[in-house]
Amino acid sequence: MTGEDSRRLLTQRLAHIEGRIAAACARAGRDRRDVTLVAVTKTVTAEIAAILPGLGIMDLGESRPQELWHKAAAISLPVRWHLVGHLQRNKVERTLPFASLIHSVDSVRLLDAIRQEAEQQDRTVDVLLEVNVSREPNKQGFAPETLSDRLRELQGRTGRVRIQGLMTMAAIDGDADSARAAFAELRQRRDDLRQRFDDTAIDLRHLSMGMTNDFEIGIEEGATIIRIGTALFEGLAGSLSG
Ligand SMILES: *Cc1c(COP(=O)(O)O)cnc(C)c1O
Repeated sequence: MTGEDSRRLLTQRLAHIEGRIAAACARAGRDRRDVTLVAVTKTVTAEIAAILPGLGIMDLGESRPQELWHKAAAISLPVRWHLVGHLQRNKVERTLPFASLIHSVDSVRLLDAIRQEAEQQDRTVDVLLEVNVSREPNKQGFAPETLSDRLRELQGRTGRVRIQGLMTMAAIDGDADSARAAFAELRQRRDDLRQRFDDTAIDLRHLSMGMTNDFEIGIEEGATIIRIGTALFEGLAGSLSG
């Protein structure tokens, strides 16, 4: 596939996804501008990822820090990079200069490491707290019941880190109903917490929820950020020719 073929295919897929996003917003009585589409580029090359800004998609996501560093360095266009997968503490230093939003803060220890490094690098860092609402034993994320206590612990000691919301993934083997229940729970908890914790350091405005299989449900349940990989990039994994 040539670069031109890839561009054409991505244009078509984006138009299709955009139609589905608009329809979900309409059903939910929401403004399209309140939902940000993050294109998760983890299965494609930097060359393919670099096509997206020209199509109006300025928010790109990666699940592995090393891959985010690599693609961010390879793409000189002004995109916003989102880290959506697990961040190890020894990778915080190299990740902060590139990531506009870290969706996957899953422990107080990690948040402390980010806070220290943000201080060190003299930058403000925006993060979301990942929540394991589907309560799968091997999944990262805060247990929903502990969020309130953790936020109380964190209050006043976030430094230059701004906690901007919550992120979750529906159960891997779940159906639409279980995704909806998980997303509705995340929203409910966010709404409760937002009443109790509201300052510039903890402002839970964002809900990052919804991927290829469930982004419309995410939007209907209040997502402000959806993260889409497969629906955009399926079949585009190989390197470019021509
Ligand atoms: C891969 C990934 C996505 C995109 O998933 P698709 O089902 O391919 O759309 C979204 N969020 C996270 C955390 C991911 O790892």
